[in-house]
Amino acid sequence: MSAAPAHASSLLSRLPEVRGKYRENADLSATNWFRVGGPAEVLYRPADAGDLGHFMAHCPKDIPITMLGVGSNLIVRDGGIDGVVIRLGKGFTDISRKGDVILVGAGVLNLTAARFCQQEGIAGLEFLSGVPGSIGGALAMNAGAYGSMTSECLIEAEIVDRDGIVRWMSVEELDYDYRHCGGLPEGAIFTGAAFRGVHGSPDDIAERMVEIAKAREESQPIRERTGGSTFKNPPGGKKAWKLIDEAGCRGLTIGGAQMSEMHCNFMINTGAATAADLEALGEEVRRRVKEHSGILLEWEIRRVGKHG
Ligand SMILES: Cc1cc2nc3c(=O)[nH]c(=O)nc-3n(C[C@H](O)[C@H](O)[C@H](O)COP(=O)(O)OP(=O)(O)OC[C@H]3O[C@@H](n4cnc5c(N)ncnc54)[C@H](O)[C@@H]3O)c2cc1C
Repeated sequence: MSAAPAHASSLLSRLPEVRGKYRENADLSATNWFRVGGPAEVLYRPADAGDLGHFMAHCPKDIPITMLGVGSNLIVRDGGIDGVVIRLGKGFTDISRKGDVILVGAGVLNLTAARFCQQEGIAGLEFLSGVPGSIGGALAMNAGAYGSMTSECLIEAEIVDRDGIVRWMSVEELDYDYRHCGGLPEGAIFTGAAFRGVHGSPDDIAERMVEIAKAREESQPIRERTGGSTFKNPPGGKKAWKLIDEAGCRGLTIGGAQMSEMHCNFMINTGAATAADLEALGEEVRRRVKEHSGILLEWEIRRVGKHG
């Protein structure tokens, strides 16, 4: 049971007793792909969905809550995050099948889910092997790659809402669009999902996953500190990378942040970037693209926390 110790900060002393763990002033820079950002005032790792529900029901509503996945589409700002930051751990990593339906915890990595499906001979989810993130992040972002999107194979998702109620929402209720989930209630957290696959040959699925890995290796700076696509593709069929390239922003650098030479919609931390460098670079790219093409790019990368 994690409760407030005698010397606890005023925030910790206001939080409910939980079975999971609280940590004050927790470094977040090691938990995101860019390796930037300040600390969480309090980091909470729930034990399971019931523990998370209890926390949500009893956490005073004026305390801000920020949900993080594995930080592969995220900039944590240099000033850190006030309030409680939640990350899912071991209690959210179950994965099982019922026929061609896969039940998976939101803390499972996409690659793990894709490998499970491959071994079980369930096709249709191999695209997830090309999206480095957690199932929770894929549900929140409607992650997609190689012609498939999370919402296309989702049946329903389990959520814990801000009042602590654990319930399932259908894919229709979640109201998905390109890289957007419109139906998740404000402050709710995904804790699991049921996906529908189709029967397939493990060898064929493995082959497809190898093709995906090869395509990523050739086109994305996957060994860099990056956050995936910085901007969404704008409506009307235009590609964000092309607009960025045409505006002369390939390789553009601010401080330690750079638009990748390899894939110019990917931003990279070349070594010593701060979150402020990354965000300033993104804003400069938006400005130049707007000036060049008249199109204002929309951030795909989520930015959380306060400026340093
Ligand atoms: C090299 C690289 C390649 C990438 N390629 C692709 C790609 O091809 N296609 C693609 O779609 N994306 C891609 N991405 C982006 C990223 O992997 C996806 O957006 C992924 O789904 C994010 O998951 P995450 O767990 O890292 O979430 P985070 O980045 O930690 O969070 C992203 C958002 O999801 C929310 N969130 C996370 N977990 C939950 C939860 N359990 N409940 C509610 N909200 C939650 C967070 O609050 C945040 O707003 C790539 C990233 C990298 C680094």
